[in-house]
Amino acid sequence: MYVEDTIVAPATAPGRGAVAIVRLSGPAAHRIAHVIWRPLKPSARSAKPAQRRLRLGEIHDPACGTALDRAMAVFFNAPRTLTGESVAELHCHGGTYLVRRVLGLAIAAGARAAEPGEFTRRAFLNGRIDLSAAEAIRDLVEARGERALRLAIAQLGGALAERVEGMRAQVISILAHLEAAIDFADEDLELPQPEQIATSIAALAADVAVLHASFERGRIRREGIRAAIVGRTNVGKSSILNLMLGAERAIVTPISGTTRDVIEDTIELGGYAVMLQDTAGVREPGDEVERIGVERALERARDAELLIAVFDSASPLTAEDFRVIALAAERPSIALLNKRDLPAQIAACDLQASGLRAPVIDFSARTATGVEALRTALLAAIEAAAGGDGADDVAISRVRHREALTHALEALGRARDSTLARMPPEIVAVEMNAAAEALAAITGTIGSEDVLDLIFREFCIGK
Ligand code: GDP
Repeated sequence: MYVEDTIVAPATAPGRGAVAIVRLSGPAAHRIAHVIWRPLKPSARSAKPAQRRLRLGEIHDPACGTALDRAMAVFFNAPRTLTGESVAELHCHGGTYLVRRVLGLAIAAGARAAEPGEFTRRAFLNGRIDLSAAEAIRDLVEARGERALRLAIAQLGGALAERVEGMRAQVISILAHLEAAIDFADEDLELPQPEQIATSIAALAADVAVLHASFERGRIRREGIRAAIVGRTNVGKSSILNLMLGAERAIVTPISGTTRDVIEDTIELGGYAVMLQDTAGVREPGDEVERIGVERALERARDAELLIAVFDSASPLTAEDFRVIALAAERPSIALLNKRDLPAQIAACDLQASGLRAPVIDFSARTATGVEALRTALLAAIEAAAGGDGADDVAISRVRHREALTHALEALGRARDSTLARMPPEIVAVEMNAAAEALAAITGTIGSEDVLDLIFREFCIGK
């Protein structure tokens, strides 16, 4: 439930830093800030505090008057603030103990420690942002690549909300015609024929379907993709991961089976985040630790959107290589024929003769040969998975949005069928109302408390 008290939380990440911002929001925000912070220049103390201006002062413990920090403060008057409420920010030095102390003082002066996402939740409840914008704030913070950033900033700017609101306006316009047919059934009004209404509904459903279909593209832009490096032990998986990451992340040793657990890290490619996962070698598991590693690797390989299947060009194919070829047949894959700096024992045609369909790249982790070819192939695979480059068009990227659009589509389908079956307009209106509600759930024009809880719980404290 929404209580009009005053909340406080650090707005900056925990840990040491140059500056830490402690933010207060609520009716008593300014009063509480003035209890624990005072301006340095005594002359400024009496003057009405200017809002939206940083002022130098000090944090002090009101119980004993001891100064604790030199800090700037800024005040924002409701309602044109982040949350729609009065907001005060104290810009202190970024010390872990110091921030804890300032929070303690604010709480002693009457504030309450904010719940995760509570600032954003208040912004939504006070009509400062819609739900899709609230989600975009989180996406901005979590973005791991340029595509994710651009998708989030567009969504924050209202691109998705506008599109969805446009669709909802069309639903409501059709509803208006249906209501007219219900209210003025006996009068001699010229109302659209069922065929006309059905056509309008179908056109609208087609629009909704286009947005619905943007999910995979949006999700990949937002989250990037997982690419699992698979292959039998010692083919060079860790070396390849290290090379691609440009760091000694995985342990490379010439002893078989040293990459026991899954190691992953993210690179940015064409603006997409690509999570590279080095999995334990595919081979008949020996000891217990290794068995767990191999199982986890196979699991990861199954979860990944893309496989990088690695083979050793300097040794003949083995039974384990055939398992990798079979694994690669199940999903989008790129094959690397590694160790090409050594005398070759096998070539791409041997892999193809064994049933491999993936493109094969001649590679050497030792001499860094084939890196550009791998990057190009990876980007092509990502764009194929994302359904083309898609530039910066509006796309949904959350399951919640996709579900809402699925419900809208279903309701529109039923509305169209009922219209064509010459059902009474009341029945069609029920379905159109359901479609309007489903669309409204995306922006939060209509939102149940449960949905809000779920969304805002994903936020960290202080957002
Ligand atoms: P993994 O078990 O598949 O992760 O393989 P590693 O990356 O640990 O490599 C196994 C061994 O092969 C190590 O001694 C590496 O130095 C070596 N190795 C990896 N890639 C190449 C390569 O392209 N050429 C040569 N000559 N040796 C390589």
